[in-house]
Amino acid sequence: MDILKEMLSFVEELNSFLAEKKGSKATVSQEFVDKWEQFKPLKYVKLLENSQKIDVQKALDLINEEVKVCTKCGLHKTRTQTVFGSGNPKAQLVFVGEAPGAEEDKQGLPFVGRAGQLLTDIIVKGMKMRREDVYICNVLKCRPPNNREPNPMEVYYCEPYLLRQLEIIKPKVICALGRVAAQTLLKTTESIEKLRGKWHNYHGIPLRVTYHPAYLLRNPADKKKAWIDIQEVMKLLKGEIEVKFESSNGQSQLFS
Ligand code: SF4
Repeated sequence: MDILKEMLSFVEELNSFLAEKKGSKATVSQEFVDKWEQFKPLKYVKLLENSQKIDVQKALDLINEEVKVCTKCGLHKTRTQTVFGSGNPKAQLVFVGEAPGAEEDKQGLPFVGRAGQLLTDIIVKGMKMRREDVYICNVLKCRPPNNREPNPMEVYYCEPYLLRQLEIIKPKVICALGRVAAQTLLKTTESIEKLRGKWHNYHGIPLRVTYHPAYLLRNPADKKKAWIDIQEVMKLLKGEIEVKFESSNGQSQLFS
């Protein structure tokens, strides 16, 4: 449990304890109860939450500074600018695509243009969340020329940035968008049909595979299947299902 959740549950417990004792001959003085009410502890929990958000954002900004000047692979020669990622630095859900396209390369933002709009619709209309509630990024931070697939060396050099992003954000769930992102993250050549429909373990974070929004624009009939994937993601976010992974030391990790 993180410190914030622990504090919140402590404050809630204390609040209900005080509410219970208010009318009785309790050992808690009225003066204390009055002070506690004025103190408004939840306000401080909120402040702490915001300051944590700022710290996480700062940590992400530091990686972004490295990415902006990165020349580890040949893609730095053809990029207009890098595309690091955007959204809530403390998001519970991270969408990961394969690489920036032409519009992303121009704007420096992930998932803009028509495919980005469809992803926004999935988040807003389907999941009833705001785009700024989630975090969106790609495996590669620079655009491969002519939107070709990333090659293994590019992934080798760039994926550590993604891992560091995820380490800082600590999402509850990752949704891989499209075959290339899924195969790249899961180090497999299995088809997207085989990768969909089950939970994968990505460095200890549950990962679900769905179609890339650009594919869905070309194949609208598959939107129904994508919606099934997204509903599973939502179930895990809401704690309606549990996902268990066996770690290398034999202990099971539980996510709900
Ligand atoms: S794609 Fe990644 S590794 Fe390659 S230059 Fe861009 S940031 Fe660096």
